[in-house]
Amino acid sequence: ADTPALAVHNIQVVYGGAIEAVRDVSLEVRAGQIVALLGSNGAGKSTVLKAVSGVLDAEDGEIDKGSIQLFGRAIEKDAAPEIVRQGMVQVPEGRRLFATLTVEDNLLAGAHLRSRSELAAAKEYVFKLFPRLVDKRSTVAGYLSGGEQQMVAIGRALMSAPKLLALDEPSLGLAPLVVAEIFNSIRQLRDQSGLTILLVEQNASRALAICDYAYIMENGRVVLDGTGEQLRRNADVREFYLGLS
Ligand code: ATP
Repeated sequence: ADTPALAVHNIQVVYGGAIEAVRDVSLEVRAGQIVALLGSNGAGKSTVLKAVSGVLDAEDGEIDKGSIQLFGRAIEKDAAPEIVRQGMVQVPEGRRLFATLTVEDNLLAGAHLRSRSELAAAKEYVFKLFPRLVDKRSTVAGYLSGGEQQMVAIGRALMSAPKLLALDEPSLGLAPLVVAEIFNSIRQLRDQSGLTILLVEQNASRALAICDYAYIMENGRVVLDGTGEQLRRNADVREFYLGLS
């Protein structure tokens, strides 16, 4: 029962056989928790997320040291489709919707693993989480606001009934009010559905406010970790990541 949902042990990731983007990173995501991975641009957050999602190949990247377990099972050699089948689904940075398809068809695109009978319930669940999308179900995704597109991207990931949802910078480029809305929904997913969430963010103050635990990366390494509460009280975090003093 105490097996973490995701456990990363001392991984090193290299791009092009030479550039070490991630060094000796370890982290744990416990079931039912929101765990945040924070740090500035280029710190290595996205690379860690790509490593655990099995998509490094596409960028000539590889895990050359360390191990990753998803629900107790080694996945560091698995490709993305296998990892999705094991229950971890990623919402990529920049959302990557099908711009010419409707909201509803974008959601269905995430549902290929579900039986026909589960589809209606899955859609219902997404529209309940994001009521704004109800009136837009037939709207082409390219016409939506950035916030609505992010909602569709999260909704599409939820359609495959993940056990662990990994989000890459969901707040990127969104207005503060919309960010608040998205983060409320993320919290709701944990609180009401018990979903386990790995949240990669540059917006440290928002992420620390909703996460159970967080890791902060700099230059490819984890430099600090603790509960959201501990990190919000940490003097360095306050100065360098929250802009407080
Ligand atoms: P961002 O917020 O910009 O996504 P990040 O913290 O997620 O930043 P990464 O994108 O993981 O950081 O980048 C970590 C390091 O790896 C950076 O030095 C970056 O230049 C390098 N890097 C990232 N992707 C590649 C790639 N495809 N090929 C070579 N180097 C890369």
